[in-house]
Amino acid sequence: MIKTIKKIGVLTSGGDSPGMNAAIRSVVRTCAYYKVECMGIYRGYQGMIEGDFKDMGPRSVHNIVNKGGTILKSARSKDFMTPEGRKQAYENLVKENIDALVIIGGDGSFTGALVFNKEFGIPVMGIPGTIDNDIFGTSHTLGFDTALNTVVDVIDKIRDTASSHNRLFLVEVMGRDAGHIALNAGIGAGAEEILIPEENMGLERLLESLRRSKLSGKSSSIVVIAEGDKIGKSVFELKDYIDQNLPEYEVRVSVLGHMQRGGSPSCFDRVLASRLGVKSVESLLEGKSGYMVGLNNDKVELTPLEQAIKGHSEIDRELLKVSDIMSI
Ligand code: ATP
Repeated sequence: MIKTIKKIGVLTSGGDSPGMNAAIRSVVRTCAYYKVECMGIYRGYQGMIEGDFKDMGPRSVHNIVNKGGTILKSARSKDFMTPEGRKQAYENLVKENIDALVIIGGDGSFTGALVFNKEFGIPVMGIPGTIDNDIFGTSHTLGFDTALNTVVDVIDKIRDTASSHNRLFLVEVMGRDAGHIALNAGIGAGAEEILIPEENMGLERLLESLRRSKLSGKSSSIVVIAEGDKIGKSVFELKDYIDQNLPEYEVRVSVLGHMQRGGSPSCFDRVLASRLGVKSVESLLEGKSGYMVGLNNDKVELTPLEQAIKGHSEIDRELLKVSDIMSI
């Protein structure tokens, strides 16, 4: 028989992303809607181990739908990687009568949730929150759309100065293992070239393309580079290499860094967070556990956490072609 869930705990874990607050708000208010208690757990799994909990009601999440970051704070917890740490966390949940969890985070956080679920049987549901969009089972993770808008906005500004001085800008964006941000923001901002981890363009092809750009009369060039691109050089080494081999260019580097994680979430991310929050609580109340709620063909669907963790979120190869054609 399915145990009736009376109190749900919600936490944010791993890297923060815009939209996490909107997801917390959604989980808390859906609990209130279904007359289930809700408790916020601060600092991810570390707060669970240390008993850093707070009762949350619909009014405790007012005015956060528009805020970046996470009011519950996030953390990476080494202690949760140990059986002792997880046991302590479980004892704290029992003490507070928390009988199910919603975990908002990336695949590491989902792995922790699954391990915890297998050890103690507590139902868990995951909401994908990371700007990298590198989670299998959802077309969009929370924060991806906001990060794209941030990056496009910044590149537009860089383009203004680049074209005033006939410069080539190398813009490094986040994405150690996945090129979703680089590819989408690169197309959105009209980049001449986009370097991503999934595709090794090769230095010679890059130089050739930049030469062609110059000859075609372009007044500025932007190359968007994901952190984990396969060109084999850091963005600064790449600048030196282009300086040496294409002296006709004046090259500048811009590393966007953590600004990509901040800011007020886009409308898309707020709506997505609200939808995923509702579905996560409803699924727990229906007796489901061990799933990630995600978006597929604009429908909110469940993917087993195991698949979400192991699966690979492929880049859309059509976008590579679109990018090629646009940079003619
Ligand atoms: P991001 O995408 O920003 O990296 P993430 O959720 O993948 O987010 P991680 O640091 O990989 O971030 O994981 C968050 C936390 O999940 C870890 O600090 C740890 O507490 C927990 N965790 C990860 N893997 C495991 C595991 N195998 N067993 C138990 N806990 C784990």
